[in-house]
Amino acid sequence: MPYNRVALIGLGLIASSMFWALKRAGFQGQVTGYARSQATRDTARRLGLCDHVYDSAIDAVKDADLVVLCVPVGAMGAVATEIAPYLKPGCTLSDVGSVKKSVIEAVSPHIPEGVHFVPTHPMAGTEHSGPDSGFASLFDNRWCLIVPNGADEDATRRLEDFWHALGANCERMEVQHHDLVCAVVSHIPHLIAYTMVGVADDLNRVTDQEVIKFSAAGFRDFTRIAASDPTMWRDVFLTNKEATLEILGRFTEELFALQRAIRTGDGDQLFDYFTRTRAIRRGIIDAGQDTDAPDFGRGKAAK
Ligand code: NAP
Repeated sequence: MPYNRVALIGLGLIASSMFWALKRAGFQGQVTGYARSQATRDTARRLGLCDHVYDSAIDAVKDADLVVLCVPVGAMGAVATEIAPYLKPGCTLSDVGSVKKSVIEAVSPHIPEGVHFVPTHPMAGTEHSGPDSGFASLFDNRWCLIVPNGADEDATRRLEDFWHALGANCERMEVQHHDLVCAVVSHIPHLIAYTMVGVADDLNRVTDQEVIKFSAAGFRDFTRIAASDPTMWRDVFLTNKEATLEILGRFTEELFALQRAIRTGDGDQLFDYFTRTRAIRRGIIDAGQDTDAPDFGRGKAAK
């Protein structure tokens, strides 16, 4: 492991999973942590999350070789401003935010000389949040996107080694490309899920709870995604405006085309479209990014 002391700022799903994955990897160094609320710090201490949980972010980062910001995207700038003067010279500052351009713009101006800022984004998550939601295998075989944005090569390589030790595969990406790719594979799918569940909720009022009672597999998958943390996702859309609006525009055009095919009874168009999308699902399974299990996303409770 390339670091002796790692500080995790924000102790939710991602940070707690990083801690458990570090433990699983046999990390012998120290992990310090900080969370904003007393309640989260108390829970973290009760769970044994981090070797030491501090009441201040400044105390948590002092002497750390790697500091990882694991707070919502909209909070990164303020946290970086607070801790920047206390970062050890030569240390690496990183973040796990789901959007990269806005985080880089918010954090970079505060980085002291001699500190390496290497942004990352582990493409792994669940709909759960908070310090008790993490687990060691969250990053296994998932991609961790590294967005060096001109950062020191040595520091970038060390951070890649760190993520490999946590179970992830690493790929470097340019900032704007990252935000566009994530808008397609993560941000807009979440927005669609939020919308579909919102529509069903409206309908529920006129169907006497039937939407919940007869909830079918597709809808249940939407509800799982739409249960994701509201703060995190609010920040994602506020900070990845350009890319999400671009993809949303394309999505709306496709939706109108399908709407027209339904209205005009164009079965060939619908069939061809669904055949193309089915192949994409196959590609994801072949790439080892999901399993073919028919109950994916519904867990034991639904069996
Ligand atoms: P989480 O479980 O909700 O935890 C967020 C943590 O940040 C909590 O410790 C929270 O403290 C703290 N926090 C919230 N607002 C803050 C503020 N204004 N100032 C300081 N601390 C604040 O979130 P998460 O899922 O771990 O996500 C953390 C980061 O990872 C986000 O940037 C997100 O975009 C990114 N990410 C998430 C996923 C995912 O699927 N969840 C995947 C990849 C990347 P309190 O508990 O004390 O409020």
